Amino acid sequence: MSAALLAPQSTSLTDLSGRVMRKLRVSLTDACQYRCFYCMPENPVFTANSKLLSAAEYQAICSALVERGIEELRVTGGEPTVRPEFREILTALAAIPAKRLSLTSNGQLLQRHLEFLSDIGCTHLNISLDSLDAGRFERITGGGDFRKVMASIEKASAMGFEVKVNAIVFRGVNDDELGDFARWSAASRIEVRFLEYMKIGDYAGNWKRFIPADEMIARLEETTTLYPVAVPADSTSFVFGTTEGGRLGFIASESKPFCGSCSRLRLSAMGTLRSCLMSEQGLSLRHVDPADYPDVLERVLAMKPTGRLDHVSQSMHEIGG
Ligand code: SAM
Ligand code: SF4
Repeated sequence: MSAALLAPQSTSLTDLSGRVMRKLRVSLTDACQYRCFYCMPENPVFTANSKLLSAAEYQAICSALVERGIEELRVTGGEPTVRPEFREILTALAAIPAKRLSLTSNGQLLQRHLEFLSDIGCTHLNISLDSLDAGRFERITGGGDFRKVMASIEKASAMGFEVKVNAIVFRGVNDDELGDFARWSAASRIEVRFLEYMKIGDYAGNWKRFIPADEMIARLEETTTLYPVAVPADSTSFVFGTTEGGRLGFIASESKPFCGSCSRLRLSAMGTLRSCLMSEQGLSLRHVDPADYPDVLERVLAMKPTGRLDHVSQSMHEIGG
C-alpha cells in the first residue's frame, strides 16, 4: 500500500455522539465449513455466491469508505477463506490505501494462503481456536481439524504476521482450559483473546453458559500474576501480560460494553453497511451513485446506537464477526 496515500481526504465518518469510525469489518460470505454450536443455526442456509459483492464492488465501496476516514479493513465472514474469489477480493482490497488490512479466520484453510497474504500486505490475523484439545475442538466446531488450524497459527506466527488467537469461553464447555491457554500463550508468545459470548442469534438464550471476564481473570489469577498492558482507546479488548511471558486479551462485550469508544462499521457480503453489531439496521451501498454516498453514510451513522443493545436475532456468521 502506498504510504503517500495513507492520509484520509476527509474524516466524515463521525456519528452524532462524536465517535469517529476508523475500522470496517468486511464480510466476504455468510457461508462457513464449520458448525460452531454458538454461531451457526442447526440448518443454515447460505447466500448464493452469485448474489454476493464482486471484487470490483468491494473495491469501490471500501475505497469510498477509506477516502472518508476508514483506516483498517478487516476481512471476515462466515469464513472468508471459503469464498471462491477469496484471493481476487483480497487483492482488490490490498490496492486500497488503507493503513491496515487484516483477516479473521477459523484457520482451517489458511495455511495455503499465507504466502499470498504476506505478499499483498495483509499483516494482522485473528484466528479462532476455542480449545487446545483436538477432540473437544472438533465437537465445538462441528468437524474442525485441530491440526490444520494449529499449523496455520504456527506458520503465520513464524512468518511474522501479528497473530491473535480468539477463544470464546463457555461455562462447562471449555472454561477448564483458561490456564492451558495462558501457558500456551507464554510458550508460543502468541496473544490469546478470551471472548465473552454475546447474545447473538439462536444460541442467545443459553445464558447459563455465560462467563464474565472478571471471573475468567479471577480464575487465571489463581495460578499466574497478570499485569495490565496498554491498548489503543478504541480497542475491543483489554490486555494483560503474565509473569511467564503470556499475553491475554479479554473482549468483555457483555459485562463491560465498549460502545462509547466504538469505531466500527460493518459491510455485509451483500453490500449492506450497518453501524452496530447488535442492530440489524443498515443501508445498502450496492449500486449507490458516488454522489449519494454522503447522504447514505449520514443515515447509517445516525443509526448507530449510543448504548449497548441487549441482543440481536441474526447469527454472527450472517452479520460478519
Ligand atoms: N469464521 C471466522 C472465525 O471463526 O474466526 C470469522 C467469523 S466468526 C463469526 C468471528 C468471531 O466471532 C469468532 O472468533 C467467533 O468465536 C466469534 N463469535 C461468533 N459468535 C459469537 C457470539 N455469539 N459471541 C461472541 N463471539 C462470537
Ligand atoms: Fe464458522 Fe466462525 Fe461461525 Fe465458527 S464462529 S461457525 S468458524 S463463522
